[in-house]
Amino acid sequence: MLWGMRIVTTKRELRAALAACGARRVLVPTMGALHAGHASLLRQARELAGGGVVVASVFLNPTQFDNAGDLAAYPSTPGRDVALCEECGVDVLFMPEAGEMYRQDRSIAVEELALSRGLCGASRPGHFAGVCLVVSKLFNLVQPSDAIFGKKDYQQLAVLRRLVRDLDFPICIHGADIVREKDGLAISSRNVRLTPEHRAAAPAIYSSLLAARESFARGCAPAELQAVVRGKLGSIPGVRVDYVDVVDAETLSPLSAAAPGRRALLAVAAWFGEVRLIDNIEMTYSA
Ligand code: AMP
Repeated sequence: MLWGMRIVTTKRELRAALAACGARRVLVPTMGALHAGHASLLRQARELAGGGVVVASVFLNPTQFDNAGDLAAYPSTPGRDVALCEECGVDVLFMPEAGEMYRQDRSIAVEELALSRGLCGASRPGHFAGVCLVVSKLFNLVQPSDAIFGKKDYQQLAVLRRLVRDLDFPICIHGADIVREKDGLAISSRNVRLTPEHRAAAPAIYSSLLAARESFARGCAPAELQAVVRGKLGSIPGVRVDYVDVVDAETLSPLSAAAPGRRALLAVAAWFGEVRLIDNIEMTYSA
């Protein structure tokens, strides 16, 4: 733990700031426009680090955007981000520009080939390769003992667990629970881009997941759960469901029949006008 938060914008400054720190380093990577979901990860990092250091990064990573419009419209609140990080006990905040992170002639790819195929990977080509690339770079720069990622991006968490396993990063990955608004909407930096009508309708995502989980507890098959969510979201004007999938929570492969004893994940992505929202819920098939 350092006295006061250090803000660094270059790799050189980051390395210098960390040089005197011990090996216990907990990293929380973010893309900024920080909110209560990020704050929860940062507070967990502070707790986990104890007397070690908490490192947060705020970097709007261009390589993980498959849609230039989404990147351009992504909110940015650097002043608030700094204040929130300070409040949550961050020791070192890394806020690089894209030109600092990436060389123009970069030519190395880091791609996960199994878990990233379905769900968001299917509708966002190249997204997880961009995530794996930037997170690998952050791991090398920070050399954390631990890193925390949110279950809101459940597939990302699974892909990054695979990244550390298969590339031998000596880093313990922790998954943090989804933080929701009072009305159930999973908090996301993109929520501020919703129209008032769509913001009012968006809690239907979580309520449909809860309703589907109830059907599941009554023994319904995956296809019926999908129909519950599609039915609820499909009736909202201006909403287009991207996917609703029931998958194995470990392998992320689709489950087409009830699988006793297996942990399952019901995951959804839907366009509310121009804004793509994701959410998920974990379920356990009783044996
Ligand atoms: P992002 O800035 O969207 O890349 O998110 C940075 C980290 O915060 C990721 O690990 C996300 O999964 C996590 N995160 C974002 N929103 C939430 C939320 N509502 N609850 C829990 N974690 C979240």
